[in-house]
Amino acid sequence: MDASPIDVMKELISNGIMASINQQIDYDTAAIVVDGMGFEARPVSAPETEAAEAQADVPQWRRLYADEDPSSMVPRPPVVTVLGHVDHGKTSLLDVIRKTHVQEGEAGGITQHIGAYQVTLDDRTITFLDTPGHEAFTAMRSRGAQGADIAVLVVAADDGVMPTTREALAHARAARVPIVVALNKIDRPNANPDRVKQQLADVGLKTDEWGGDTLVVPVSAKTEEGIDDLLEAILLVADETDIRANPHHTAAGTVLEGRMESGRGPVATLLVQNGTLRTGDIVVAGVAYGRIKGMFDPLGKQVKEAGPSRPVTVMGLDEPPHAGDMFEVIKGIKEARVIVQERRDTRQAEEARPAAGFSLEDVFERFKAGETKELLIIVKVDVDGSLEPVVTSIENLATSDLKVRVLHADVGEITENDVNLASASDAVILGFNVEVDPMAARLAEGKGVDVRTYDIIYKLIESVELALHGMLEPEYADKAIGVAEVRRVIRVPRVGNIAGSYILEGIARRNAKARVVRSGKVLAENLGVSSLKRFEDDVREVRTDFECGIRLDGFNDFEEGDRIEFYVRERVN
Ligand code: GDP
Repeated sequence: MDASPIDVMKELISNGIMASINQQIDYDTAAIVVDGMGFEARPVSAPETEAAEAQADVPQWRRLYADEDPSSMVPRPPVVTVLGHVDHGKTSLLDVIRKTHVQEGEAGGITQHIGAYQVTLDDRTITFLDTPGHEAFTAMRSRGAQGADIAVLVVAADDGVMPTTREALAHARAARVPIVVALNKIDRPNANPDRVKQQLADVGLKTDEWGGDTLVVPVSAKTEEGIDDLLEAILLVADETDIRANPHHTAAGTVLEGRMESGRGPVATLLVQNGTLRTGDIVVAGVAYGRIKGMFDPLGKQVKEAGPSRPVTVMGLDEPPHAGDMFEVIKGIKEARVIVQERRDTRQAEEARPAAGFSLEDVFERFKAGETKELLIIVKVDVDGSLEPVVTSIENLATSDLKVRVLHADVGEITENDVNLASASDAVILGFNVEVDPMAARLAEGKGVDVRTYDIIYKLIESVELALHGMLEPEYADKAIGVAEVRRVIRVPRVGNIAGSYILEGIARRNAKARVVRSGKVLAENLGVSSLKRFEDDVREVRTDFECGIRLDGFNDFEEGDRIEFYVRERVN
């Protein structure tokens, strides 16, 4: 409408509404005001929800560029993350790239580790995130951010594709970032590039030498051989990927690091992804906000502005933001405060609620609600031989509407990394003949990640199939919680027999189910516990090595030496 807020407020006042500048008004009021100013109001809530639905599976970071006119977008430096198996040389590569290609400038300042640095090659710039490994990358993604445009997968030429290589690959693929392979340690006498290229081809990264579309660059972080080739390969992929931003927009991007520094207060490293950040700008970063007082580049040099793909350290926020939070520039400090207060409130409310992740039973409902179009699965199996059949059978289950994508499939137990990947990608984890690492199980519970294990392939396939058709019912199984031994039978006229018992192990619970076992044979089961007493007192539970009196619903013929087993029904799959 091109009207100033003052005019709108005047119109409101003339209609008897004393509104402040950032007050929300309802549609009817807005319609009257708009009409008074010579416009016609029409509600747009319906298309709005459609747009929201269409955006449901668009990660938050994509919205950075959502309202940009393509003509205002110009190429920006690619942002690169380095992933790979431990000890394959991620850190060494990042160090040697920094050492050989960072222009230290006249100041000759010592480069600082601020979570990222920029290098130049033939007048072109590349931004490297210098926290290697996919943990940082995944943490970012689980907050809706995406720091990197390209992933460099480091594979040691003398060691080959290892479990974490495959894991890192799954993370890069889940994030849909293109991959360049750095075949490192080619200086080693036992390096075997061809063998590793074959392994790479087996995981879907066929080198372009063999007609594939992955650039596999032999390098050595030790002799510095091939480093330029690697940077060139990155630039080549960047050119194909169309990495752009609008430098004239107000700035927005991702927090790479946040920390307290003595003498400087809260300090944050921000990666500008769109627009240009300037000192004096008011920034909201996750639940932190403030006016940027000082801004420094990775060489520690003070700068006044930072354009797209530029990492900078800033001072002036009221608290250190979290890595992976998104930041944006806001017009006024009051507005920033309101946004942050709202976020702090929501975050608090969310923390009070248990985590609700994505479960296999949900997929169909979510699909019907238009929230998802595919089921993402992570598969872990016990032996190599089962991998192929499980993955193929799962992928063949896709229906015409609902796709199935196996994000990651590997041999071995279910680990924390699997859970993190699932959590960041809204995937479920299916295990065949494998254990769940206890830490992973705890993490999954906290994050609400659905982890299921099976010992029959058919059962695993069947639950995916049922889930895809919205017919998966939860399954229950009995879980033993304690065993009592009957030491003495006390006969009480009119009441029945009480089993004077001793808890051998676990716990006896009043609200559990019980079965009676004599000489290994089950006499009765699914019995309710009608009373559980310590001396004269009714109790809810009795623990190991304590005596108690037990009466069961529908069973009276106790004998000394009988075992009473207590169990509960638990949801398993
Ligand atoms: P990261 O765990 O992937 O970060 O691996 P590091 O960068 O810490 O490297 C692990 C080990 O491999 C270190 O002892 C490095 O010195 C060594 N290393 C890394 N790159 C090379 C290389 O290109 N050649 C040789 N010979 N050794 C390397």
